Amino acid sequence: MTDCLIVGGGAIGMLSALLLAERGRRVTLYERGALGRESSWAGGGIVSPLYPWRYPDAVTALARYSQRHYPAFLARLREQTGIDPELLDSGLLMLDSPEPGMDAWAARWEMAIEHLQGAAALAAVQPGLAPEFDEGLWMPEVRQVRNPRLAKALAAAARAHPAISVHEGTPVQAVRVVQGTVQGVETAAGPVSAPCVLVTAGAWSAGLLPAECAPERPAVHPVKGQMIVFRTAPGTLTRMVMHQGRYLIPRRDGLVLAGSTLEERGFDKTPTEDARAELTAAAHAIFPALADCPVVHHWAGLRPGTPHGIPYIGQCPAVRGLFVNAGQFRNGIVMGLGSARLGVDLITGEPPLVDPAPYALDAPH
Ligand SMILES: Cc1cc2nc3c(=O)[nH]c(=O)nc-3n(C[C@H](O)[C@H](O)[C@H](O)COP(=O)(O)OP(=O)(O)OC[C@H]3O[C@@H](n4cnc5c(N)ncnc54)[C@H](O)[C@@H]3O)c2cc1C
Repeated sequence: MTDCLIVGGGAIGMLSALLLAERGRRVTLYERGALGRESSWAGGGIVSPLYPWRYPDAVTALARYSQRHYPAFLARLREQTGIDPELLDSGLLMLDSPEPGMDAWAARWEMAIEHLQGAAALAAVQPGLAPEFDEGLWMPEVRQVRNPRLAKALAAAARAHPAISVHEGTPVQAVRVVQGTVQGVETAAGPVSAPCVLVTAGAWSAGLLPAECAPERPAVHPVKGQMIVFRTAPGTLTRMVMHQGRYLIPRRDGLVLAGSTLEERGFDKTPTEDARAELTAAAHAIFPALADCPVVHHWAGLRPGTPHGIPYIGQCPAVRGLFVNAGQFRNGIVMGLGSARLGVDLITGEPPLVDPAPYALDAPH
């Protein structure tokens, strides 16, 4: 018998499975498709929220935990699996004006932000930017991770772990509850019993929560994001750069991602020509050399959105043993390790990493 059954094998589900197994729990992980192929694969892998001072403390607290602990965690993951998630110190250069509260935020959370004035100062950080930019905000400590490789490494570690039983291609149809206590789940192959069920189904999580969870049912909803990728010679761009919400992420092998759209289209993941044209134009406007580089791929993913950007992490108040960890929205990679750790603390009864109140399913937001 499993100790905890996890529904959804994205970054949050896989990290939770590994952390639970580390604490001696037997875990069963059900994934509808293949591990790590939805939002966790489709994202950009910036290990920081964009304009991070705009977010509530509840987001920053989990992001800061992950930022501090990813280097050791990912080094161990690479050693175990032989897959390198490519955690890179590329920094984040924002070609935007300073905002009120930004410096106080940076001092409070111990993040460096340098104000850059003039094209020469920008060029010293990243040569080749469009000439009209003459001010910027430079966050040298912001890293990126190659999220498809992170997902691959997490999947390999989960599949290889003796305490984790992975079932891919197996959708969970419903969570079973009797008299306010979780019993397990229903799958196409029949019912599976478990004393603890953790829903980490990303944008699909709300549909899996039983009626007993109401009225606390979290409003996790899909927010479509499209991305394109350019092929360039390695070293063409070395910094992550953004301007008015559009960003470029240079991978080690020369691929440069450009993202991303924010669209309310339900569960439709179809890439569109309009978005491709818009992302291409925005990328050229930031870094003109990209006009000579081909776009080699274009895709879309569904972020698990919440009304306030704070994920739901905790036990469903009306159902003993039913936990949720979903709704990381644009920040599921940067908040991933911290989110999983908090969720696992709450499941195993360890002192929680941070005050869990803001993430509760019935938190007053
Ligand atoms: C374009 C884009 C750019 C992004 N950029 C960044 C970034 O730079 N930095 C950052 O931190 N975050 C970024 N994100 C956000 C981040 O990718 C997500 O917040 C994160 O991946 C969410 O992880 P998850 O595990 O909750 O969801 P997912 O990765 O979507 O995983 C959920 C899993 O649940 C499975 N599932 C669903 N229903 C069922 C069911 N009934 N039974 C079994 N399994 C089920 C799905 O198949 C899926 O594998 C970006 C996202 C997008 C789309």
